[in-house]
Amino acid sequence: MSELLNFNYPPEPATDRVTLFADVILPLPLPKLYTYRIPFEMNDSVMVGARVIVQFGGKRVLSCIVADIHENAPADYQAKYVLDVLDDTPIVTGPQLKLFKWIADYYMCTLGEVINAGLPSALKLSSESRIQLHPQYNPEEDEIIFAPQEEKIIFALQHNQALTFSEVANLLQLKSYHKFIKSLIQKEAIIIYEQVSDKFSPKVVKKVRLTEHFVQEEGMLEELFNQLTPQPKQLDILLNYLQKVPVHQDINLNYKGLEKSELSKNPHLSASSINTLIKKGVLEQFDQIVSRFPIDNLQQQLPMALSEHQLQAKDEILGLFKEKDTVLLHGVTGSGKTEVYIDLIKHALEAGGQVLYLLPEIALTAQIVTRLLKVFGEKLGVYHSKFSDNERAEVWQGILSGRFQVVVGVRSSIFLPFHNLSLIIVDEEHESSYKQYDPAPRYNARETALVMANLQGAKTLLGSATPSIESYYNCKTGRWGLVTMSKRFGQAKLPDIELIDTRDAQRRKAMNSHFSSQLLTAIEERLQREEQVILFQNRRGYAPFISCDECSWIPKCKFCAVSLSYHKYNNELRCHYCGYHERMPHDCPACGATTLKSMGFGTEKVEDELKLLLPKAEVQRMDLDTTKTKNSYQQIIADFENGKTNVLVGTQMVTKGLDFENVSLVGILNADTVINFPDYRAHERAYQLFVQVSGRAGRKGKPGTVLIQTRDPLQPIFRKVRNNDYDSLYEHEIEERLRFGYPPFVRMIRITVKHAEEGTSENAAIVLAKDLVDRLGKQQVLGPEVPYIFKIRNLFLNEIHIKLPRANTNLKAAKNQLAKAIFNLRLLPDFKGVRIVADVDPM
Ligand code: ADP
Ligand code: ZN
Ligand code: ZN
Repeated sequence: MSELLNFNYPPEPATDRVTLFADVILPLPLPKLYTYRIPFEMNDSVMVGARVIVQFGGKRVLSCIVADIHENAPADYQAKYVLDVLDDTPIVTGPQLKLFKWIADYYMCTLGEVINAGLPSALKLSSESRIQLHPQYNPEEDEIIFAPQEEKIIFALQHNQALTFSEVANLLQLKSYHKFIKSLIQKEAIIIYEQVSDKFSPKVVKKVRLTEHFVQEEGMLEELFNQLTPQPKQLDILLNYLQKVPVHQDINLNYKGLEKSELSKNPHLSASSINTLIKKGVLEQFDQIVSRFPIDNLQQQLPMALSEHQLQAKDEILGLFKEKDTVLLHGVTGSGKTEVYIDLIKHALEAGGQVLYLLPEIALTAQIVTRLLKVFGEKLGVYHSKFSDNERAEVWQGILSGRFQVVVGVRSSIFLPFHNLSLIIVDEEHESSYKQYDPAPRYNARETALVMANLQGAKTLLGSATPSIESYYNCKTGRWGLVTMSKRFGQAKLPDIELIDTRDAQRRKAMNSHFSSQLLTAIEERLQREEQVILFQNRRGYAPFISCDECSWIPKCKFCAVSLSYHKYNNELRCHYCGYHERMPHDCPACGATTLKSMGFGTEKVEDELKLLLPKAEVQRMDLDTTKTKNSYQQIIADFENGKTNVLVGTQMVTKGLDFENVSLVGILNADTVINFPDYRAHERAYQLFVQVSGRAGRKGKPGTVLIQTRDPLQPIFRKVRNNDYDSLYEHEIEERLRFGYPPFVRMIRITVKHAEEGTSENAAIVLAKDLVDRLGKQQVLGPEVPYIFKIRNLFLNEIHIKLPRANTNLKAAKNQLAKAIFNLRLLPDFKGVRIVADVDPM
């Protein structure tokens, strides 16, 4: 039939029909790219960076990214056809593809893993995905025009909860059904099913407005007044509405309406009268989806005028950028680095470039986003993992379309489709949360940002009050520029830091559980002066473990070599490594005694005890357990900002970059667990943590105090922290690193060998280490050794560390050798199920 229909058109000359092939990146951990044949009719529509649909293996249908188009048929297999094209413009940009390749090479993983981590899953369709109607889609009201195929899908979805892709294919009797799914997603009529489990819930407010004809028709409003006169309560509601929404002045105001809660705010106005008016048809109720960052309520503001110090820092940065691509801004806590960033962002945008502003932690984005929104308004995109997948896909598209020119985000924002970056800011550059541990790609966003800047000709500004030793070294050796701000903004001074000897306090009976009387008195004083307090403890939960007084039994995780932490609020014992949990037993399962005692303490216990010791304090806790839901960070931070709470207890989360003006006391409950960590970075980390948490005190005028509880006040680190003596920390650390061979003088790669059998894991590690010694030399290979936590998720671990001197090492060649060694090990029948993970630049 179709031959006949085509009869009138001259057939395309055969010479025009170039046979093209596409190399595609499948979202799977495959070692290489696969090549597919492009059907002639798609020759013009397949593009590098766009998604196409292909069949992989027997049944799976997947969307993937085109990485290359060429004319070479694969030598060793028959190429299958590309089934469908999803995009009419690329969704991954050229510089992005280059960056993805760099990530895969440098961090020793596959491009598929990079794509998987980088692309929001709304952009990844696979045959396992399901679709359902969009929760906000209303077939009666929404006047959307659908293609007949789309209507068919919608109709089917009105009768079925969800459809798999293959069901859609059957329904339409079509192989190329994906474009209809994509179109329906764009029309917001359907969503992909995974997003539902992602708790997709747009923020909705209930609003009311006057029913149309009271506004549109002359005289109706007066008549309404007359009607309502006998019902004074209802009349009051109406008057209140008109006061807030003066429709008699401008009838268009009515359309936007008023929040229902706003209308009944006044104590003598009742919600029931509103409901009566709705029933009578005077008011109508409607839902409005509101943005998480309601732009129209935020007054657009000019950035703050920079102080002399800030102006000087900015000029120095711009001056250095003329010669160097990377500059480190070393500014003490509260020196006003953020305002300097804002000024630089503004300039970059005015010159037409894109800007990426990286932050290490979601907790921080809440405050910074508010600050940035005031200046950049709708140009600002926000990107982090607490956002639903749909929202992330929206930011992605918004960058491509030019809607967002500046993006604030956590480490995964380095995957976003920028193509015209002119500035990257890496705030709190020393933070280890820039590094992704698991799964692959195990990348460091700070390092990746530098490469990204390089690919796009952008400049990078890193900022910190406590720079990483590696970054400072780069400045000292002249590779990067260095700008210093050594004073706090305005009248604010750095806080006084005092040590409390808890061993001594115990002897003097001046400890009340985990609080020294000195700390308690100080907290009380602050509360009396209506000032605020931050308390830091680096463990979450109630107690890191429990133990039986009678027989010393300690509950351990079934799957990991760690003890279970006690969480009081749900009376559970929990593994912080694999999530395993069980109920807290009443008696000791080993001896039956009722003498189970909690040992040590976490944030939950600090919160609990403080509420008992100081009943007047309004205490809130910020840690992983209290910030599970989407807006919990914002809520906790807002409550503290508004003075609703006056003591904030937390883990690392409270140490980073937060800016509260009324905090005059910071307490560190147990400094010793921070210092005594078996790692070459322990000192650097401890210094950073103490200085950063101290930096939350006394930021605006009011003098701040920091109290550090420790059993060992003579630790040299404390002197450095108290004197804010970064230089002496740096000198000491860099010497040690040179002497013992650690970064920045070497590059490290950590190889972890995992297997369910302890012996297999160990033997595999021994064989691998031996092969590596042969390939790389004895000096370069350390281990294998059994790590402190030797079993996680039922797998026994062995580690090998590779150290490659920075000078005179061909990194690429070394990694190739490593890859070969791993490949060969996997071929050995004894080690078939062994998992091997390579972590480049572990932290
Ligand atoms: P940092 O990031 O260096 O710790 P911030 O940028 O948060 O410091 O600044 C510390 C405080 O000083 C903030 O509360 C900020 O609002 C205020 N501040 C900084 N610069 C200015 C300025 N130019 N004008 C007014 N206030 C400023
Ligand atoms: Zn016991
Ligand atoms: Zn576990």
